[in-house]
Amino acid sequence: MPDFPSSILAFQRQFADEAACASWLSAARWPEGFRCPACGHDRAWELGAKAWTYECAKCRRQTSVTAGTVMHGSKLPLTVWFWAAYLMATHSNGLSARQMWRQLGLGSYKSAWLLCAKLRRAMVNPARALLSGVVEIDETQVSYRTKDDPVTGGGGRSPDGKMQVAVAVEIVDEAPGRLRLGTIEDASSASLHPFIKANVAAGSTLKTDGWSAYPGVAGFNHEPHVVGAMAAHVVLPWVHRVISNLKTWALGVYHGLRRPHFQSYLDEFVFRFNRRRTPHAAFRTLLGITVAIKPATYNMLIAPEAKG
Ligand SMILES: [Zn+2]
Repeated sequence: MPDFPSSILAFQRQFADEAACASWLSAARWPEGFRCPACGHDRAWELGAKAWTYECAKCRRQTSVTAGTVMHGSKLPLTVWFWAAYLMATHSNGLSARQMWRQLGLGSYKSAWLLCAKLRRAMVNPARALLSGVVEIDETQVSYRTKDDPVTGGGGRSPDGKMQVAVAVEIVDEAPGRLRLGTIEDASSASLHPFIKANVAAGSTLKTDGWSAYPGVAGFNHEPHVVGAMAAHVVLPWVHRVISNLKTWALGVYHGLRRPHFQSYLDEFVFRFNRRRTPHAAFRTLLGITVAIKPATYNMLIAPEAKG
């Protein structure tokens, strides 16, 4: 896997131009050398006439280094995509399209908005695994705004609504693992049980504050801790830390959270939380880079040493 820069200056140096981005992309996608996605052949030449495109020596299929990534078919330079993904992956509050527009000096707000939307789409992996083991569950309310933002006119800064949010944090070795957040109608069983089933594997142990809506969700072990004798943040320390961070983050988001996009804000928070120690992975995920694994051939399996 190619090295990933640890600072903004190192990033700027490493990804100074299109060629640098393209060669990093090629190494990230084909760590063992180019593989034709059509026939699996490993010899290809780079086309002079088409930028960053390989032609398979066997079947002649042409493969762009951006094929299958979020960058494919875009008119924006690779350097812009790389910077946008880097900023989004490393900025703790995230960036609005407006901030991206200004920071990257993009031609129009619309292209900045599209760029952000495309990167954000990668934040939810539909095939992600359910939380499992011991999972702390709680619910909270997060403020949102409905007024227009102060830049475009009208509207104050004060929150004018509250959204009910269900929170699930997996506990691994007494530390927080993965997080899931979901908007819910209310704190009733009818709202909480579907959230639990959609996000937590059956057979897991649910740690809750003992709220009456939690028991009875079929297929789960329930470990209620009735709050009163002990403060909730003692019983469910990680879920409460997440809730506190979520509320702080919601206030810091550019001009506040909006109701129509509420779940996508939550998805973004979850994406950042779950990759808080792996900005490199966040960067690659945002750009839609998947690694082409060399298929193991029969010869490789029976005589690995013979292949050198
Ligand atoms: Zn081929």
